[in-house]
Order: sequence, then C-alpha cells, then structure tokens
Amino acid sequence: MLSVANQLIHRPILASIDTKAFRHNLNRIRELAPESKIWSVIKAKGYGHTLNAALQGLDLTDGFALLDIADAQWLRDHGWQGRILLLEGLFHEAELEQADQLQCDLVVHCEKQVQWLESYKGKSGHEFNVFLKLNSGMNRLGFKPAQYRTAFHRLHASSYRMHHMTHFANADQVDRSPSVGEQMECFNDVTEGLHAPSSLANSAAILWHRNALGDWIRPGIMLYGVSPTGTFADIVRSDLQAVMQLRSQIIAIQELKKGDHVGYGGRYQAPEDMRIGVIACGYADGYPRHAQDGTPVWIEDAGEDKQGVICPLAGQVSMDMITVDLRDAPHAKVGSMVELWGKVIPVDDVAQMSGTIGYELICALAPRVPVEIK
Ligand SMILES: *Cc1c(COP(=O)(O)O)cnc(C)c1O
Repeated sequence: MLSVANQLIHRPILASIDTKAFRHNLNRIRELAPESKIWSVIKAKGYGHTLNAALQGLDLTDGFALLDIADAQWLRDHGWQGRILLLEGLFHEAELEQADQLQCDLVVHCEKQVQWLESYKGKSGHEFNVFLKLNSGMNRLGFKPAQYRTAFHRLHASSYRMHHMTHFANADQVDRSPSVGEQMECFNDVTEGLHAPSSLANSAAILWHRNALGDWIRPGIMLYGVSPTGTFADIVRSDLQAVMQLRSQIIAIQELKKGDHVGYGGRYQAPEDMRIGVIACGYADGYPRHAQDGTPVWIEDAGEDKQGVICPLAGQVSMDMITVDLRDAPHAKVGSMVELWGKVIPVDDVAQMSGTIGYELICALAPRVPVEIK
C-alpha cells in the first residue's frame, strides 16, 4: 500500500516529487549558464509539482517567476525571502499595493501597466524592479519595437529599476519564423544604448542558444526534467532528471479469449488468449484520454526474471482506469506497482502517444492525486 505522511491512501495512485532531482536540474542549469541569474519558473503550481515541492527543491534559485500574486503570497508566507517575478505583471491596478508589500518584481507588457506604475510612484515612492517586455516577434505580450523605448524612458523617469525582457517563440525548433536570431536582432536594435540587465532565455534557449541567455534566464520545463520540444530524445544527453513520478497499481486482471474486446468502444481486441491488467489511473487523474493503444506503461517486477516490463496500453482510457496488455509480463499480478510516467517512462513519450507535449500532462496532474514530496 502506498502511503503519504504515514496516512494510507486507499486508492493506490500517487505522484512523487523528487527534490533531489530538482536540485540536480538547477545545478545543471547553472553549469549551462554560469554567468546568468536564474528565475525558476513555477507558474501553474510548479508545472503541477506543487509550490511546496518547488520551494523545497529549488531553494538555491535566485528567484521564482510565477503568474498569480496569491502564489507570491504563499511563497512569502512559507519563508521565501528571495526575489519573485510576476511574469505577466499586474492584472488589476488594485494588486499593486500587495505586490509592493510582497516585494515582487514586475513584468510590464502594456500601456495600462505603465500608467498604473506612474501614478503609484507618485503616491508611495517605493521602487520596483521592472522587467519591461519587448514584443520582438512572438506577438503575444509586450511593447512593439516602436513603442518600447518611450515606455522604458517613462518608467525610468519614475525611477523604477529597469530591466529588458523578451520571449522566444521558436528556441526549440529550426526553420520556424521568427527565429531566435531574428528576435535577438530586434532586441539588440531596440534596446541599444538603454543600459539595463536583460532576461531572455526559456529552457529551449538555455539548451540550444547559449548566445541568447541574458542576465536573468527563465527556465521552466527543464527544471522538471521534461523536454521543451515534446521529444524526450532531444534532452536525453542533457543530464536532466525527471522530477515527477506518477505511480499506481494493478487492481484487477482479466483473462481474455482471442477476439474479446476491452473497455469503452471495444477499441482493443485480443489477438489471442491473453491477460489484461487494469490500473487505477484514468483521465480524472490527469492521464491523457487521447492516449493510443501502445502507449508505454511500466510494470515493476513483472517480467520473466522479475525485472520491470514496459507494457502497451490496450483500450480506451477511462475516467478512473486504464487497461494494459500483459503478454510480456508473466509475473504481473493484482497489487503490482506501475509507473505511468517518471523515471522509466518519460512523460514526453506518453504525451507523444496522446498528441500533446509533456508540459500539458504534468501541469494537468489532477487535484485528486495525492502528492508525496521526497
Ligand atoms: C513559461 C515561461 C517560461 C518558461 O518556459 P519553458 O519553456 O518552460 O522553459 C519563460 N518565460 C516566460 C515569459 C514564460 O511564460
């Protein structure tokens, strides 16, 4: 039986978060970008790993970058005294005072946010670190090149501590527009002569564009040991470790006759007499409903030699269960431990079989799954 903090969990599913892997990945990022400071990006509750685990595993970061001011509050309440960056800045003017109290650094990406800061400055005299965002071609957030310098001068005149920031659209791909090179050229042109620290690189740029880092890098997905491209092979030599392991157990075994069908829609049909394992994990736990037959599932101690075996998903994912083909797992039994993703099965591989990327699966770990921080 799995347990969390000595409390038995009766439905045998558990996500384990490995704080040593967090520490390892952060060190690895320091090796890749020794000159840069690190904003550890922990939006979406640390990409589904929980803020608590992120704070424990990433306590040696230079700062945390996130979206919700409530999460900044949580970090302060739990003792984080380092820097915090609100990655999209303020959503409402009313948040300014709290952001100030919490000593958050602010991204400023639009005219409204500039105005809020100009008038706030008038009242309080407090200083924020501002990361002014340039839209260098991604066309999501940020000032257009023609407006950027004016915004910079206005905030500078209000004596905010200025930084330049932009975000890459294609640091994980070649032959896509805009390229990192094009965005860097735009960035360098627009910021020329405006002396301020910069923040440029996401994980993909840290891995593959070491000339586009900036003074503050913003790694997200690589902290969690998941690939920025969606393909695990792309990071297999980068010495990153998976932080989240999602495990459960086989809760039933069905003996099928050749031609029998499995699950909703009968998508899988037994090609011969065989065993099917039923595992306590479904789409309501965050397992992707679009996973195709053949998606890898690791069953511990199930092989001829009592080694783990990777078994293929067989049949439609349901809300609370999946079914797997046990033909290669003669020792699999009710109670066998199963890894859905983590150390043996990269979450990227499960994602790829489901038409998505690892980012989405880890962020979508369901609230009903208990989390153990190791
Ligand atoms: C999410 C995010 C990142 C981190 O991106 P990864 O691809 O996960 O490394 C960096 N910068 C900004 C602005 C983001 O929104």
